[in-house]
Amino acid sequence: MWASSIDTRVSSGAVSVRDGGCACGEVRYRLTSDPLFVHCCHCLNCQRQTGSAFVINLLIESDRVELLAGDPQPVDVPRDDGSAQRIFRCPTCQVAVFSQYGRPEVRFVRGGTLDDPTAVTPDVHIFTRSKVNWVTLPESTPAFEVYQDAKALWPAASLERLDAIFDS
Ligand SMILES: [Zn+2]
Ligand SMILES: [Zn+2]
Repeated sequence: MWASSIDTRVSSGAVSVRDGGCACGEVRYRLTSDPLFVHCCHCLNCQRQTGSAFVINLLIESDRVELLAGDPQPVDVPRDDGSAQRIFRCPTCQVAVFSQYGRPEVRFVRGGTLDDPTAVTPDVHIFTRSKVNWVTLPESTPAFEVYQDAKALWPAASLERLDAIFDS
């Protein structure tokens, strides 16, 4: 499994900035386009789930997350508001590769699982009310105490893509 995923990457000429996977190599995925939008979420749910200060989520249509190898398994994780967040994990090493909030048409791909996590930059910081004090946000990126006004921030092309999946 590990060797074959390496071979795929070599034969394609270069490591794609949009490929990623789990720690053990069993799960490999490829994003077939740019994401719709990139969240950096500082909410307490994300902090707890990652064991870190925030999460980087690439929002993208589920059918644009191509599984190259492996079969991530869904785990429903409780959130503070009483809802559940479905997190997909490698069945072997249990690393979380993407999650889903409600609608299955959109995946939230975890930026840290990309082969090159530096390939993405957050479009917005959300839930900054629970941001840890030692993280300083860049002035140039919009930030919101609780949630972002998606319609105001998303590029027109991303809104059109979202309409396309929800209208179909
Ligand atoms: Zn794994
Ligand atoms: Zn969050």
